Amino acid sequence: LGMPDVPTKLADRRVSRKIQVGTVAVGGDAPVSVQSMTTTRTSDVGATLQQIAELTASGCQIVRVACPTQDDADALAVIARKSQIPVIADIHFQPKYVFAAIDAGCAAVRVNPGNIKQFDDKVREIAKAASEAGTPIRIGVNAGSLDRRLLQKYGKATPEALVESALWEASLFEEHGFRDIKISVKHNDPVVMVNAYRQLAARCDYPLHLGVTEAGPAFQGTIKSAVAFGALLSEGIGDTIRVSLSAPPAEEVKVGLQILESLNLKQRRLEIVSCPSCGRAQVDVYKLADQVTAGLEGMEVPLRVAVMGCVVNGPGEAREADLGVASGNGKGQIFVKGEVIKTVPESKIVETLIEEAMKIAEQMEKDGVAS
Ligand code: SF4
Repeated sequence: LGMPDVPTKLADRRVSRKIQVGTVAVGGDAPVSVQSMTTTRTSDVGATLQQIAELTASGCQIVRVACPTQDDADALAVIARKSQIPVIADIHFQPKYVFAAIDAGCAAVRVNPGNIKQFDDKVREIAKAASEAGTPIRIGVNAGSLDRRLLQKYGKATPEALVESALWEASLFEEHGFRDIKISVKHNDPVVMVNAYRQLAARCDYPLHLGVTEAGPAFQGTIKSAVAFGALLSEGIGDTIRVSLSAPPAEEVKVGLQILESLNLKQRRLEIVSCPSCGRAQVDVYKLADQVTAGLEGMEVPLRVAVMGCVVNGPGEAREADLGVASGNGKGQIFVKGEVIKTVPESKIVETLIEEAMKIAEQMEKDGVAS
């Protein structure tokens, strides 16, 4: 329509090593992936696999499971084999569970070698076992569990402290020639977290797992994660993301996918462009937007649907979308690809939009545009 080209991405991606987490590549030119963590007891294989299936259905690409006990370690083999997405075992302190996770065929292990350094040769043995099995390791530095030595040196979990800790942890593996690593430096304060990742990104080429830890309940955690990940990803920093919410893990995935879609790091799916409504609105915009969203839920094609409350900005926005409605005088003008195709009474707006959306989606699928 003669519009100037809109930049499709914000920055070149930071150059990082590529590692392979099962079937999902992380780092290098691999797309930024979304991961989450189960909330079930890992030893409850049925419940854990059920939750993994739900996460997979919601678009999660990698899943992490906690492994605090021997029963959990014993469950890993079945979970890793039956999960449709790569499984990462999350282990603290216990080297024997790391070996169990590698033997179980987990796609990766999250463990901090600093925690197991006291066990003499264990870091060397883990490096050897992981290397032989081709199992990468995530080093996860967390403000809440920062090494006491660094807390004393820096006074608190500053970005510098988090980065020094991460690079020291990595060096414990590097001593044994092991570099199949990704790193996270999480903090609950997005500003500290962004600065930590920026510094870390400049000082190593390991792929980075982004996370704001203990981000809080859904609303606050969503905002904190979106702000922090948005800042970093827009600078090309970040290779895989995990949104942490005090909410069901499928919610984390939804937020993670939306962040990537908003930054054009993932193909957009259904997008509802609806106005905030104002004194000029001639229709209940919130209700209309909700009804259209509900009616089109689950649609996988990148369809932009505009729902506008009046004819002031309405027709303009509706024209920019694949499909849209501009309401006024108890009627809705329905637009498809910039053309008014019909005007319907208000009561028919939702069903007409859904009908037209289905037609466009079918055509997009035929043309191979589906994500
Ligand atoms: Fe107000 Fe109309 Fe703009 Fe909606 S489209 S915010 S109703 S002016």
